[in-house]
Amino acid sequence: MPEISIAVEDAGDYDVIVVGGGLSGVCAAVAAARTGARTLLCEALPFVGGNGTTGLPISGLCARNSDKIVVGGLVIEIIELLLKRGGVGADFKLKEWIPVDAEQLQLALGELLHTAGVTLLTYSPLLAVGREQSRIRDLSFYNKDGRALRYRAAAFVDSSGDAQLARLAGLTTPMGRQRDGQTQTMSLVFSVGGVDEARAESKSALAEAWNTLQASGATRNKRRDPAVNEVFGRPGWRSFIATRVHVKKGTDNRLLADAELEGRRQIEEFICTFLRSRAGYENCFLAQISSHVGVRETRRVSGLYEITTADLVSGRKFDDAVACSASSIEIHLPDSGLPHWQHLQDGDYYTIPYRALVAREVDNLFASGRCISATHEALAALRVLSPAMATGQAAGTAAAQSALNGVAADRLDVVQLRETLRAAGAIVE
Ligand SMILES: Cc1cc2nc3c(=O)[nH]c(=O)nc-3n(C[C@H](O)[C@H](O)[C@H](O)COP(=O)(O)OP(=O)(O)OC[C@H]3O[C@@H](n4cnc5c(N)ncnc54)[C@H](O)[C@@H]3O)c2cc1C
Repeated sequence: MPEISIAVEDAGDYDVIVVGGGLSGVCAAVAAARTGARTLLCEALPFVGGNGTTGLPISGLCARNSDKIVVGGLVIEIIELLLKRGGVGADFKLKEWIPVDAEQLQLALGELLHTAGVTLLTYSPLLAVGREQSRIRDLSFYNKDGRALRYRAAAFVDSSGDAQLARLAGLTTPMGRQRDGQTQTMSLVFSVGGVDEARAESKSALAEAWNTLQASGATRNKRRDPAVNEVFGRPGWRSFIATRVHVKKGTDNRLLADAELEGRRQIEEFICTFLRSRAGYENCFLAQISSHVGVRETRRVSGLYEITTADLVSGRKFDDAVACSASSIEIHLPDSGLPHWQHLQDGDYYTIPYRALVAREVDNLFASGRCISATHEALAALRVLSPAMATGQAAGTAAAQSALNGVAADRLDVVQLRETLRAAGAIVE
């Protein structure tokens, strides 16, 4: 394949560089900085929060299963910062799923990064990765002035959701189902305003009516069981996950461009031919379309351990656990309009092992969030916000310890890592 060349400016040295400023990358960067590492967080978009802010309103954060609280540390700190701003309900501790205000979330994340002393570089897509044998040496980011900015570091965290860092480093990055590589379907999330709260049809009645229409073949949209949610702090608003877009992969801009258009067609059809005929929705208006189509699954990092469905449904507790979660497996199947669910027992939870955050082919790369090492099926539970944030905190802490002590990721003292995480309020087992 022909190559292109671009001028490069050496822009600085850090202990840890985190790529991707989604919620998992923010937690990784804050944790690394608090562990004492000089930390750079790089993000392609102008702001941080990733799908937690661009894809919202989503239904919220999963924090517990019945009586068992499964996340602490930075997840709770962020919620408390939101509480200060009125961006979350004061009763959040009682909820399994915590709805949050996406705009306030951006403000809270900015404060958190600033206080931790993280250097933030937004507007900067990762362009190239420099390697020396089994070590990643530097990363170059596209700069609007037409040159690339190159930064060196001792340890790196891939929080890009798409395993972009691993991919550009030439590492193995599995994608999709083992049998055919197909990934979960996408959804373009949207909100409507102008809902008459007193008359609004219930969520279940709406979903049932849509399923009947959908089954009749009268719509182009194959999504069944649309999710309908109140929007935190906005009476008269509802958010919908009611679109279903399937393209071969979510890492090809040409296919993503098609997906954006198709998502918008489905939104218009849903509102005009269905929603406005329902009680309380007659005068609703399209209030917000998520800033990009919601991609549930792309590439992941190939780690020292790959988490499986059996690990999750059996509530496995690993010796090297660094995070916990109770999120159900929720697969938006490429071959069916209905999401496939597998729930945990009431009060149960599973753990996430350190080895699933460590790239197996190099010495100094960690993964967090949507691109950790798990099978297609297991990732369908681990990809959501609270495990993404908890693995971010673990990966960032580990990257800092690895960089500051000059230890390869696979030789890190996991006992010490777990102690540091516990001391920072994280729930590791
Ligand atoms: C339709 C939909 C609904 C959902 N609803 C919920 C819900 O209700 N509750 C829940 O918990 N989860 C939900 N999720 C899942 C959740 O939003 C994500 O899985 C979660 O945001 C993952 O966090 P992350 O930080 O790993 O990745 P992301 O949020 O995707 O962040 C990755 C970041 O990396 C940046 N990036 C990517 N490539 C580069 C590059 N080359 N250079 C620099 N930066 C780069 C991106 O711009 C992005 O900001 C939903 C997902 C979808 C698609």
